[in-house]
Formats: sequence, structure tokens, C-alpha cells
Amino acid sequence: MSKIKTNIKCSKCGVFTENSDYCKSCGNLISHRKRQELKVAKFKQEQIEEVKKELENPNLAKRLIKHPFVWYRVAGWVLHSVFLVVSAIGAFLAWFIAMVAAG
Ligand SMILES: [Zn+2]
Repeated sequence: MSKIKTNIKCSKCGVFTENSDYCKSCGNLISHRKRQELKVAKFKQEQIEEVKKELENPNLAKRLIKHPFVWYRVAGWVLHSVFLVVSAIGAFLAWFIAMVAAG
């Protein structure tokens, strides 16, 4: 711990507080270092939450397949199949166009 005396004026109520991260009068966070730390921690937390969200919800079809209601699951499988068929057609078209272009 540092022994440097800090006297920070609260931005909310204007009261000076010595050697504390929080205002002695209203409890407002007055330490710039602490505020920066909290900011970084919050940013990291947000990134973790985003990754978690993405892991839990890869896409709509996969989410529907795991749905408790059977009709949602059916819709999920249909969506999944359509996606596969569309990819297959896309791949075939790409191959076909390549063949036509080549020959
Ligand atoms: Zn204050």
C-alpha cells in the first residue's frame, strides 16, 4: 500500500476525501485509478459474456433443435436441412460454373 496522501474532490458533492477510493460524504467513486480498474474489469467481463453467448447460441437452427417443444425442434431440423441443401446447391453451382468456364 502506498503512503502517499491523496485528497480528492468528489465530482458529485464537492467534498474532499483523504486516502479513500470513495467519497466520505456520498459514497461516490472518486479514485481515478480505481475507476480505471473497474472500467477494465467491466470490459473484460463484457468480452467473456459475449463469448459465452456465442457458445450458447451458435445459430438459430441449432438453438431450435434443442428447444423443449417438439415443433420448434422440427422447425430447427427443417431449417438445418434447408441450410445444408442450399450449401450443397451452392457448391454444385460453383462447380458447374467452374466447369462451364473451363470448357
Ligand atoms: Zn460525494
